[in-house]
Amino acid sequence: MSTNAPTHNKIPDDEARIVTPNFITDVIDADLESGKHDRIVTRFPPEPNGYLHIGHAKSICLNAGLALDYGGQFNLRFDDTNPTTEDIEYVEAIRADVRWLGFDWGEHLYHASDFFEELYQYAEKLIRDGKAYVDSLSEEEIRAYRGTVTEPGRNSPYRKRSVEENLDLFRRMKAGEFEDGAHVLRAKGDMASTNMKMRDPLLYRIRHAHHYRTGDAWCIYPMYDYAHPLCDALEHVTHSLCSLEFENNREVYDWAIEHAEPPARPQQYEFARLQLDYTVLSKRKLIELVRGKYVSGWDDPRLPTVAGLRRRGVTPAAIRDFANRVGVAKANSRTDIALLEHSIRDDLNMKAPRVMAVLEPLKLVITNYPEGQRELLDAPYYPHDVPKEGSRGVPFSREVYIERGDFMEEPPKGFYRLSPGAEVRLRYGYVVRCDEVIKDDQGHITELRGSYDPDTLGKAPEGRKVRGAIQWVSVPDALDAEVRLYDRLFNVADPDAGEAHFSDHLNPDSLVTVRGFVEPSVATDADDTRYQFERQGYFIRDNDSTADALVFNRIVPLRDSWAKQTTEPAKPDPKKAPTPEPQKAAPTPDAPRNPVLEFTPAQKSRFTQYVDKLGLSDNDAALLAGNEALADYFDAAVNHYDDAKSVANWVVNELSGAMSGSDVTDIEVSPEQLAGLVRLINDDVISNRIGKDVLAEMLATGSDADTIVEAKGLRQISDEGELEPIVTRLISDNSDKVDAYRNGKTGLLGFFVGQVMRETGGQANPQMVQKLVQQKLG
Ligand code: ATP
Ligand code: MG
Repeated sequence: MSTNAPTHNKIPDDEARIVTPNFITDVIDADLESGKHDRIVTRFPPEPNGYLHIGHAKSICLNAGLALDYGGQFNLRFDDTNPTTEDIEYVEAIRADVRWLGFDWGEHLYHASDFFEELYQYAEKLIRDGKAYVDSLSEEEIRAYRGTVTEPGRNSPYRKRSVEENLDLFRRMKAGEFEDGAHVLRAKGDMASTNMKMRDPLLYRIRHAHHYRTGDAWCIYPMYDYAHPLCDALEHVTHSLCSLEFENNREVYDWAIEHAEPPARPQQYEFARLQLDYTVLSKRKLIELVRGKYVSGWDDPRLPTVAGLRRRGVTPAAIRDFANRVGVAKANSRTDIALLEHSIRDDLNMKAPRVMAVLEPLKLVITNYPEGQRELLDAPYYPHDVPKEGSRGVPFSREVYIERGDFMEEPPKGFYRLSPGAEVRLRYGYVVRCDEVIKDDQGHITELRGSYDPDTLGKAPEGRKVRGAIQWVSVPDALDAEVRLYDRLFNVADPDAGEAHFSDHLNPDSLVTVRGFVEPSVATDADDTRYQFERQGYFIRDNDSTADALVFNRIVPLRDSWAKQTTEPAKPDPKKAPTPEPQKAAPTPDAPRNPVLEFTPAQKSRFTQYVDKLGLSDNDAALLAGNEALADYFDAAVNHYDDAKSVANWVVNELSGAMSGSDVTDIEVSPEQLAGLVRLINDDVISNRIGKDVLAEMLATGSDADTIVEAKGLRQISDEGELEPIVTRLISDNSDKVDAYRNGKTGLLGFFVGQVMRETGGQANPQMVQKLVQQKLG
């Protein structure tokens, strides 16, 4: 995404914007309309004294996104005016991070140090004009003279120096005649100003220090408040966007522009900085975590640094989506980390191939399956609503690993996985039954023995119902892997609140390492493939991974396990007679596997009804039954539209995520309205993909799904006549891919379908597109 278009800028249509309209886009629109500017220039001005974090990413997405939206220019400027803390390592890391986020500054890379000479000349001009003076008070005296918020300051005795004396001293400061701290250059502000920043702000100080770019050429360095506005002006920045803590600096900013008279007049606007729960977003604190070895480095996957998120497996698209969802506000507030996780899942859900892995293995020997026999079972990579195709063979043999948590010796009602005498389906494979439990001397389960029904591959077993399906990996084919499960870095939402040092709130379980097994197909995939390990979460190979020793990072679990812990935990009633302690399912490293065990009788009965009467999956039923408000909402929605499974899917997966932390009782969308949305999707009026956008709009405006679909023209295109020309053109434009497809690269089907979906803004009926593409490719 290059941002160098020297043409006259235009106000984009709202639908075409990357940056959701906000108070800053209102200002820019007005400036273009009034002719104040005919071209907009933004910049991101990091100080190269640390790695970028997701707060910086928000600022980058805003600044670079605006330049793209208006066809303007985006500058990257290193604010390198403090030689003692800056380093080329940081400069390079920052450049890499901005690029990785998907933005490009083209030829507009600047450094404050590029402008040291100009800044110096402006300072001489200010002295000549009687606007600045050399002060020789000590640092402490300067502080004492400044006064307090309630008392005005006093003028420095050196303020009356003549222009000649000031010029002479300033030139000698530059020539290196004085020690650090002997003199400073100050603006003649107002020592009685209610804005402390205006009490004769410092413009230059002496620092005999080596600068990573200018070396020893300078021993005086400009202060941020002076350099920043003038660099903006020298780069012809029009809208200088910074976070709210710079509000009081704006007066100094305007002072510098007014009196130095640079060639352009940029204007500063402040927006709320990102503050994210359960983490810290401040370079100083992040440096402490890195230097104090609380984490493994700047790219530790638990850190909110861009480098850490990248190593963790988060995509740039997810970060951009998150930045946009957070929005640009005028008042500070904290953001729930669940919103970030929602953006990550939303992105990966549509992209990640599904494979099987077992993280806490228990061996199951299938005694009626011939020893030494092997068969390859065909398993799809994507569920049907992902517009991608492909499958792989998964080897099946006499011994498989299953997840320890998927077996219970004494299962409670409603446990549809494996237990003695019970049947379960091995996903994409056969139905198996557990016949025998093998234990060691201490009574720990070491192995299961069972049998399979050869007549159940791809079909239901005769005369009985098998509800559960579990992931598994064939023992002789399994790839051994270290799997790193990450959780929040801190165990309190705001680690900075309160007396204690933030490091006292570190979550000791933020990294849990387990050894698991992954199906063999992953061995040949690209290193940066992001997978969904079925029923576990999203994973990517870590940098530490080698061909012989696989290491996977969990990017994010499938669902937010913390939300379940905080929404009213089901407490047993202490007044009731104690029921015998139910046997606990073996703990798994993931979210609590079987919340049903802790349910109250009322919740249990709701759960059973959902599974038995409505046919919901265990997971959806448990999530609903465990949250009374959500379950009531679901019940009400089903009263309006009786496809309970679809409604549950939307309530559990989409609505909960899109609510971003608010309570279901507070949202704008009524159960009836949600039912209406689900009906539109099931009737193929809109696609699943568009359904999500419509839901977001419903939550924002409270309108009905029908109304939004009509107003925005979002109806799904199911007309072959309309889709066919697009498919035909894509096929003739991509003859190389067509050949590759015909030579066996059938995975390219996903490419063609994806292109059509993109061209139609997600409105094409994906099944129809797929059919058309397949027909044409033969
Ligand atoms: P920190 O406070 O984390 O140490 P900083 O403000 O010192 O960061 P800079 O390199 O000076 O870091 O910031 C570069 C730009 O990024 C500034 O314009 C600043 O306003 C913006 N920025 C920094 N932190 C955030 C945040 N949490 N949310 C949004 N923008 C931010
Ligand atoms: Mg700063």
